[in-house]
Amino acid sequence: MKKQYLLVFLFGTLFFNAQEGQGFYQPSNSSCLSPEKRQQIQQELDANRQLLKSQGKFSENKTLSHPLFIWPVTKNPDTTYNKVWSISNHVDHNLAYPNKVQDWNCGARTYDTTDGYNHQGIDIFTWPFGWYMMDNNQAHAVAAADGIIIGKDNGNFDRNCSFGNDDWNAVYIQHADGSVAWYGHLKNNSLTSKAIGSFVSAGEYLGVVGSSGNSTGPHLHFEVYNSNNQLVDTYAGSCNTWTSSTDSWWVSQKPYIDPKINGIFTHSDTAVFDNGCGVQETTNFKDSFNTGEKVMVYMYFADLPVGKSINLKLIRPDNTIAYNNTFSNSAFYYASYWYFTFQSSQFNQYGNWKASVTVDSETVTHDFIYGANMGMSDINSSKLFSVANPVKNNQLQIISKNNLASDKTTLEIYSLDGKRVESKRVELKSGVNLIQVNLQKYQNYILKISNGTFNEVFKIRN
Ligand SMILES: [Zn+2]
Repeated sequence: MKKQYLLVFLFGTLFFNAQEGQGFYQPSNSSCLSPEKRQQIQQELDANRQLLKSQGKFSENKTLSHPLFIWPVTKNPDTTYNKVWSISNHVDHNLAYPNKVQDWNCGARTYDTTDGYNHQGIDIFTWPFGWYMMDNNQAHAVAAADGIIIGKDNGNFDRNCSFGNDDWNAVYIQHADGSVAWYGHLKNNSLTSKAIGSFVSAGEYLGVVGSSGNSTGPHLHFEVYNSNNQLVDTYAGSCNTWTSSTDSWWVSQKPYIDPKINGIFTHSDTAVFDNGCGVQETTNFKDSFNTGEKVMVYMYFADLPVGKSINLKLIRPDNTIAYNNTFSNSAFYYASYWYFTFQSSQFNQYGNWKASVTVDSETVTHDFIYGANMGMSDINSSKLFSVANPVKNNQLQIISKNNLASDKTTLEIYSLDGKRVESKRVELKSGVNLIQVNLQKYQNYILKISNGTFNEVFKIRN
């Protein structure tokens, strides 16, 4: 697999010991389909049309105008990703080859090959963690417009990373004007259960974005033919040589450079983006941290322009801001990430933290728990005592299993960095004892209960 990764480490102590790094992901190009395979698919679709007509499920009546598409990739409604994709390639309008390319916007976001293939569709790749996303069905190919399913290919291997695998999994949909959209490289056995001849509505699920066929990693190849079976570039632009430069096939055509926050996540350790061909990445996602653990915050972007301002905040459980850093993006990539590592000393409150990233007017927030081990057990018990957590209204509740009222017992409370913040002598009777303390909210402490014969330690939280 020729995916390229670059890690630029900018280690250095910034605010709060945050260590910073960044990198990018650049999918490599694949032919998507050989000319022979394309021809074979066209024949298969023709045969299906004839069959559907003979069954009365297909009409030759056609509307005059082509459909307007909605975006053909959506995220699984359950996902924690903000966005799941970026674009690697458009249609190539320069028919010379190799390395002679031009897309609809007169740029070079497309490719050709030495054997004369000029890219014929849009490649929409999943980011970040394409294999993880595929395995967890995070990115769906959906119908860009209403239509009839006129073909389905399934049963083909879906973890390819190179050329030479012509058989893909795909769904083909014919619209009311007779135009047809191809949705290729889908995950095996993820295709809509609807049969050939069924109607699908715009936005309806077709399959999971995968890497079947000639593919170097999970992506959707979206290829469109007009009612005369001529290839269409769905984008209106001055270098779209095939249709009028103003005739967009999109309800709302996306800009050529389309900055996106794909997600912000917390991780236990460095994310591993390449574990080899078809092998799921090591995400190291983690949302619940024990005291003492570091937290790595990764922000994932697509199409972020150079100089674009990025703001990262860490927000404490009491909504105060623990970390606030605005920096600017240093290079343009179709897919990139920035990360910061925060050491445990940063986390001076237990509970529900937030990491939030803002670019332009969009803010994406990720929730995580710090000090999960302190919050796990509500009652901390030993042979002699139970201590209730959390401490409510600064009243420490200690249940003593013995009557120690005649014996002076020492209570000491320490902050997690070892400072003694409270010390008092108490008389603990058998049963519930309420002891007034003065602790800060959202903090973890160590409670020591001792006298001459015992010495017990409990975690408490306020
Ligand atoms: Zn493609």
